[in-house]
Amino acid sequence: MNLILLGPPGAGKGTQAKVLSAKRGIPQLSTGDMLRAAVKAGSDVGKAAKAVMEAGKLVSDDIVIKIIEDRIAAADCARGFILDGFPRTLAQAAALDKMLTSKGRSLDAVIEMRVNDGELVGRISGRYTCSKCGAGYHDTNLKPKTAGVCDSCGSTDFVRRPDDNAATVTTRLMAYYRETSPLIGYYFCKGNLKSVDGMASIEDVGAAIEGILNKVS
Ligand code: AMP
Repeated sequence: MNLILLGPPGAGKGTQAKVLSAKRGIPQLSTGDMLRAAVKAGSDVGKAAKAVMEAGKLVSDDIVIKIIEDRIAAADCARGFILDGFPRTLAQAAALDKMLTSKGRSLDAVIEMRVNDGELVGRISGRYTCSKCGAGYHDTNLKPKTAGVCDSCGSTDFVRRPDDNAATVTTRLMAYYRETSPLIGYYFCKGNLKSVDGMASIEDVGAAIEGILNKVS
C-alpha cells in the first residue's frame, strides 16, 4: 500500500499517518520529521534547511527528493509507505512518479484532508508534543489527562515546534496554496485522488480513510 496524505499544515496528516502506520505495519515517511532530525543532528541538510523551516518556507526540491528517494529504497518500505508532507510541489510529485515507475511501483491512493483555514491556525498554534515519546497534545483540544504529564509515557517534558506559531502559520498556509494545492488537480487527473472531511473527529477521519483504503487494496 503506497499512500500519500495531502493537506495543509495542521490538517491531521501526521496524526492519521501514525494510526495507519501502526494498523497496517508500513512506515510513515514525514519529510518534516526527517528534516527536523537533520537540523537536530547538525548535518549539511539540517544546516541548509533550518532557517527556511523556521521561516515557514519550503526546503528546496533537490534536498527533499533525495531524502525520499533514499528512504523509499529502505527494506521497511518494501510492503509500502505513507507519505506525510511529501510531495509538496509539482516538481516533487513528478520526481516521485519517476522514482516509483523506475522501481515498478505505483501509488494506491492520494487522500486529501480538507480543513477550514480558521481551524488550522488554532490547531497549529496550540499544539505540542511529548519530547520523550512524541505523543501529540493541544492547549485546548487535547490536553493530557493529568496536567503536565504525558498520557503515553509519563514524561513531564514537552516541546513546541519553532515554526508552530501564529506568525509562521500564515507563511506556511500561503506556501501550501501556492505550491502544494496544485497537486490536488495533478492527482485528480491521474485518477488517484480521494478526499475526506478533516474537520471531523480523529476517529471519524480515520474511519473515512480506512473506508477508502479498503476499497483500493
Ligand atoms: P511539516 O512537519 O510537514 O509541517 O514540515 C515542516 C517544514 O519542513 C515545512 O514548513 C518545510 O519548511 C519543510 N518541509 C517538509 N516537507 C517538505 C517538502 N516536501 N518540501 C519542502 N519543504 C518541506
